[in-house]
Amino acid sequence: MTRPCIICVAITGSVPTRADNPAVPITVEEQIESTHEAFEAGAAICHAHVRNDDETPTSDPEKFARLKEGLEKHCPGMIVQFSTGGRSGAGKARGGMLPLRPDMASLTVGSNNFPTRVYENPPDLVDWLAGEMREYDIKPEIEAFDLSHIFQAAKMNREGKIPGHLYIQFVMGVKNAMPADRDVFDYYLHTVKRLVPDAEWCAAGIGRHQIELNEWCIAAGGHARTGLEDNVRLDRETLAPSNAALVRRTVELCEKYERPVASWREAREILGLRMPETVAA
Ligand SMILES: [Zn+2]
Repeated sequence: MTRPCIICVAITGSVPTRADNPAVPITVEEQIESTHEAFEAGAAICHAHVRNDDETPTSDPEKFARLKEGLEKHCPGMIVQFSTGGRSGAGKARGGMLPLRPDMASLTVGSNNFPTRVYENPPDLVDWLAGEMREYDIKPEIEAFDLSHIFQAAKMNREGKIPGHLYIQFVMGVKNAMPADRDVFDYYLHTVKRLVPDAEWCAAGIGRHQIELNEWCIAAGGHARTGLEDNVRLDRETLAPSNAALVRRTVELCEKYERPVASWREAREILGLRMPETVAA
């Protein structure tokens, strides 16, 4: 199989702290440095949340703006994807950074349980977030925590609420949500191919399931997500020393399955994203 695999690095998230792994980048400066190293290692997409200095999650557009500016300067061409999921319950504040026009943003189209709470995605908020993404020319990455989310995304695609080719990520292994189950993974994929055959897809596995989901995706022709947001360990005994170390692990799997790693340019072509003006052709 020779189709390039797009590697996304989820650098920070809203949950892991320095106490879990000192390599988790918290400040914007740390995030830029960590992403740069991951970009050099082969990541084409940076999925980012931002944090306050005390490590609590925030949706502060000013921090997102500084992060975007730094990434465009230090990782030219890399696809910048902002999370709109980091602060469930915060309503429209979750999309307050979308006017910054990142290349992509995460979009969850339904609700489910998280380890200690409900991940609230009511229909009016989902429609509003999708509308903001159309307004600012942002490609959503659909976060499918459940089979119903794939059906809902396909419906919104048909209705023009999420135009163009969908990019769907299966999320598995979140406590109290869908486990990393091979049969379900296969059925998710079957459903995507049936409902939206022109969609691109990938998966995120949480904790020890990260490497497992990377392997399933890479072997089946999808794209892959890694990074400290989802998993802070290389293996049971070893903390991941950096986001880049996790990216390198995913690159090795691509080599195992003879999948070339997509450059940022190839990733933008595959996902139908604009080429950045600031990068020389
Ligand atoms: Zn995230």
